[in-house]
Amino acid sequence: MRRSPADSIVRAIPTDSRWAFDSVMYTRRLVISSLLGLLGTAALPGQGEAAGKSSPPLPGRKPAPKAVPRLPPRPPAIVILDPGHGGRDPGAIGVTGTEEKDVTLSICQGIRQMLADHPDIRVFLTRDRDSYIPLPSRVAFAHEKNADLFISIHADAAPNRAARGLSAYTRADKATDDFARHLADRENRVDAVYGFDAGATDKQTAAILIDLARRHGHNASLAAKRRIVTGVGHRVQLLDNPMRAANFAVLRSPALPSVLIETGFLSNPQDEKILRSPKSRAALARYLADQIAPVAVDLREA
Ligand code: ZN
Repeated sequence: MRRSPADSIVRAIPTDSRWAFDSVMYTRRLVISSLLGLLGTAALPGQGEAAGKSSPPLPGRKPAPKAVPRLPPRPPAIVILDPGHGGRDPGAIGVTGTEEKDVTLSICQGIRQMLADHPDIRVFLTRDRDSYIPLPSRVAFAHEKNADLFISIHADAAPNRAARGLSAYTRADKATDDFARHLADRENRVDAVYGFDAGATDKQTAAILIDLARRHGHNASLAAKRRIVTGVGHRVQLLDNPMRAANFAVLRSPALPSVLIETGFLSNPQDEKILRSPKSRAALARYLADQIAPVAVDLREA
């Protein structure tokens, strides 16, 4: 089959975008009118093949490529990483003096680095240095960024020194157990001691939020917790019964899928040894990043 010069030009242009399609149509019109001009024939706008779908294709020619409707590019999923404590609030202090605020910042920075080149994810940290950020401000920051997922990273002191391993917490009015309630009580006291009370702001926030969003947020939080713990569980030591719930102030954003991860307990000497090692922190950051990425992308698509 013979092809016209117009056809070869058209075939050379990728047709998988609307932009390309427009340029194809433009090029076809341009080439055909030039050819007709050379032959001494007037090219009428909207006539022949240049008119596109309104005219049947000429015999021996392929019909003009159809424009593939293209969805607008999807914005990336926004992940907020919240390094627990900071500034005048050191968090837990390990048996050899490791401060929780340093562990949490280092792990969050590690996760951000792992996800830096991910095309579908943008990561923000609630703090990027050793500064004190009240709990409600951390949640407000997530709202400001229109977050899809909020992950708070901690390495607290457990109620008993023997407790060790990673665990994850979602929000519940009633804690799943005393262990989780103790952790939440301790975390929530931080603002009473070092800053201002999270309770008052929470009442206002709760009053304006809708039930549906709350349910969605809660279910998504549970799913995220399950997936992250199951995923990292192949790589790191887990606390017995690693999926728990308690009334953490930093998780009280009903519509936003939120999980608090205790990467380990500084009250346990073995955990502290792991958490103070830069190499172990980097590994932990990588395992967490591997799990957080698909969770975040799915939430964006929800
Ligand atoms: Zn903590």
